[in-house]
Amino acid sequence: TQIMTRGLPKQKPIEGVKQVIVVASGKGGVGKSTTAVNLALALAANDSSKAIGLLDVDVYGPSIPKMMNLKGNPELSQSNLMRPLLNYGIACMSMGFLVEETAPVVWRGLMVMSAIEKLLRQVDWGQLDYLVVDMPPGTGDVQLSVSQNIPISGAVIVSTPQDIALMDAHKGAEMFRKVHVPVLGLVQNMSVFQCPKCKHKTHIFGADGARRLARTLDLDVLGDIPLHLNIREASDTGQPIVFSQPESDEAKAYLRIATEVV
Ligand code: ADP
Repeated sequence: TQIMTRGLPKQKPIEGVKQVIVVASGKGGVGKSTTAVNLALALAANDSSKAIGLLDVDVYGPSIPKMMNLKGNPELSQSNLMRPLLNYGIACMSMGFLVEETAPVVWRGLMVMSAIEKLLRQVDWGQLDYLVVDMPPGTGDVQLSVSQNIPISGAVIVSTPQDIALMDAHKGAEMFRKVHVPVLGLVQNMSVFQCPKCKHKTHIFGADGARRLARTLDLDVLGDIPLHLNIREASDTGQPIVFSQPESDEAKAYLRIATEVV
């Protein structure tokens, strides 16, 4: 994809939001949303004085409502802005709140862009220290327009150690560099599976792929998250692991990553 870097439109901050951290991935299904949710919760858990928001701009496949156990229509403020929905201390906004869960997403082009515009500009966040943004996978128009519309403190790129995921993560990192968004580092998700019975460790998607890519791109690895049943179950039941099992090793992996990000 050719990316225009000259003549970038002027970025305007989101009102009340100090720092924006985007969570991106090259490919779908690598655990980007799971990371975004647990990162938001970990930022809040590590420093209770900080106000954290979570914005889901994965317009074609919003998963924040389910993962954060939220549904419903956002109320409008007096100035006609949408109020985020709140759970586990995190202010959340998602395309999933604005359309029926079962409604086929038939928007294309302009409609998606107007949805993005709403999510970026028509939300009353109050005061936030960090807004974690769950991007769609890949390097398309949505990622580009988010990067060009708001100032972003940094991007976290999630990948499994699998070659095909890493190739796309590489493209993602390049895109952010081209639009002058600092890449904070890579999260290597599903890095290892440990059999709960025999304790044997298997690198189902390969070992250390993200470390190799990080070296190639001169980036940091922010941390490894194991492939673990509890992470999947916690997400599916709307009780993210950092909230529901904060003492677990899996939650601690996210809590450590959160300290690397800020
Ligand atoms: P993406 O946002 O990249 O499409 P998701 O975060 O939706 O990916 O994750 C895809 C699926 O994999 C979800 O069912 C999620 O619960 C599961 N998952 C993500 N990370 C892990 C992990 N480390 N261990 C187990 N399951 C995971």
